[in-house]
Amino acid sequence: METEQRATEAVELMRSAGLRITRTRRVIVKVLAGSDRHLSAERVFTLLAGAGERVDLATVHRTMTTLVELGLAHAVNTPQAAVFGLTHRPHAHAVCRSCGETADTARLEPPGDAPPGFHIDGMVLQGTCGRCTRSPL
Ligand SMILES: [Zn+2]
Ligand SMILES: [Zn+2]
Repeated sequence: METEQRATEAVELMRSAGLRITRTRRVIVKVLAGSDRHLSAERVFTLLAGAGERVDLATVHRTMTTLVELGLAHAVNTPQAAVFGLTHRPHAHAVCRSCGETADTARLEPPGDAPPGFHIDGMVLQGTCGRCTRSPL
């Protein structure tokens, strides 16, 4: 239900932003909405291909960029690739330095002492994820 709702919301926002709702855009948004993790364009491409959707990687990249520009999705740079999540509430991210696993934190609490002139609208916490902590190289 939550997935459907988030996907529907994003599609509605795309529509009100004047974007044509193509099948490709719809399925990409659905994949993002259905994932509790942030996904790279490559991962979205693989998931869609696995589900029998014929979408090329360049289109996935382009769609991600469009979604970010519209504020419907947000990108986080990890050591491996940029990963994307649908934007549904302000949140900070924790990124694993080792494998790039990215997780949302429950809340966004920007520091009160941002450098002069900076508008802070995102935060990235760096560290090591549970999996990497358990299995050191
Ligand atoms: Zn990790
Ligand atoms: Zn996020």
